[in-house]
Amino acid sequence: MTELALVQSSHDPALKSLDDGQLRFIRSNAAEQLSAIDILTWGVKNFSTRIALSCSFGAPEGLVLLDMMHRIDPKSRVFVLDTGRLPQATYDLIDRVRDRYDKQVEVLFPAADAIQSLVNDNGLNLFYESIEKRQLCCRIRKVEPLNRHLATLDAWVTGLRRDQNASRVDTPKIEIDRAHDGIVKLNPLADWSHEQVLEYVAEHEVPTNRLHRAGYPSVGCDPCTRPIAAGEDPRAGRWWWENDDTKECGIHVEEKGSGI
Ligand code: SF4
Repeated sequence: MTELALVQSSHDPALKSLDDGQLRFIRSNAAEQLSAIDILTWGVKNFSTRIALSCSFGAPEGLVLLDMMHRIDPKSRVFVLDTGRLPQATYDLIDRVRDRYDKQVEVLFPAADAIQSLVNDNGLNLFYESIEKRQLCCRIRKVEPLNRHLATLDAWVTGLRRDQNASRVDTPKIEIDRAHDGIVKLNPLADWSHEQVLEYVAEHEVPTNRLHRAGYPSVGCDPCTRPIAAGEDPRAGRWWWENDDTKECGIHVEEKGSGI
């Protein structure tokens, strides 16, 4: 890319609050050579209180990142989307983390009036009736609260890994998130394996969701998560009544042409 193109694109209103140095770094793909802790250090140094970790408290990746970010900056921010349908084990873990790290976990709730209408119009268990209704529930309970929160940030951190499923194989370690107003999205564990995640958890005694030990590789909302049998795909326990290609909640969407 020419210097002129770079300057022009830095004025792109979709690229929120990024200076030329940050843009140049992201575009250079230099982050691909960095470790997870180096990427988080870059994020905390560049965005301070305007960066936050998105942690579901239902998968070990988010807890690994929380532990790393806490070592870099004990005041680093973390948020969780409380859909109102999480299992008790997840609420227990959130409080355990608050105690262990002496950290405020920002708990985000869906809009009360939207939940009221959703339930009045569709009942409490609408997600089993159709893909459209399941996606509507995810949108109101997860996606909209996330979007509202990301609008207040310049960068966010996720636990996405490339080997989690086919749609994540190209996940970069740092990207511009055009689906969220051009803020920066850090995926520091993109090239980690599941085994590496578990090794970090064991080595640093990172707290994790107790339902993992009951056969749940990842824990989402209580009515939409079940344990899996030995040898089953880890995603088989999420929205098990749907086909694999519909199994996303809309949080990690890729906008067409979002490449930088
Ligand atoms: S995972 Fe299930 S209960 Fe949770 S928001 Fe999505 S559809 Fe609703």
